[in-house]
Amino acid sequence: DLVRGLQLGLQHYHPKHPPDVHHGYGTEEIFYTDPSVLYISLHRYDNGSFFLGNGQPTRVGSDRGEGYNVNVAWSGGLSPPMGDAEYLAAFRTVVMPIAHEFSPDVVLVSAGFDAAEGHPEALGGYRVSAGCFGFLTRNLMELAEGRVMLVLEGGSNPITLCDALQACVSAVFLQPEPLNEEELVRKPCVNAVESLKTVLHVQSENRSVSIVHVYFLWSF
Ligand SMILES: [Zn+2]
Repeated sequence: DLVRGLQLGLQHYHPKHPPDVHHGYGTEEIFYTDPSVLYISLHRYDNGSFFLGNGQPTRVGSDRGEGYNVNVAWSGGLSPPMGDAEYLAAFRTVVMPIAHEFSPDVVLVSAGFDAAEGHPEALGGYRVSAGCFGFLTRNLMELAEGRVMLVLEGGSNPITLCDALQACVSAVFLQPEPLNEEELVRKPCVNAVESLKTVLHVQSENRSVSIVHVYFLWSF
């Protein structure tokens, strides 16, 4: 039922822009009141001015689904563009702690790659490397005893799309490719830290101490 729901959602709600650097609004809508599915989206938002304009960090789910919708909504434009350090920080502080707390049976990834470097500003403008997508995929395999399913979605630069997808498949079946050393040690940019603080602040109202703790770790 879960898989069918996602597929229906993609057909009905994402004729042009599946979840990737854009918000996955159709998937969000389908599961917005459903506490059995934790939905997390990482997307460019820019306080609503980036295309689609939705995916507000304040949208946390409703009714019984409250606390099961997480929008990591990047604001601050392209100064600088978000890259590996920002996505790694999002996984460390928001995605993995909340996902571990939820403890899913299966992880379904809308694997879209228009946050990859090589996309023009209007289509994303970010600089996430192929290797980083592989690394993030590997992170997700800590969940659900490794039951992670990737469904190929967006990405309009065929070269970076192929590289990123290959990195993800390698991460699942072999080892992730090594990450760029500079990105590994780089601090996330100020705009990213602010965006993460916003989502952590909103989400911490709904859940346990662990998330609040992470929030304070990031405050120093
Ligand atoms: Zn997109």
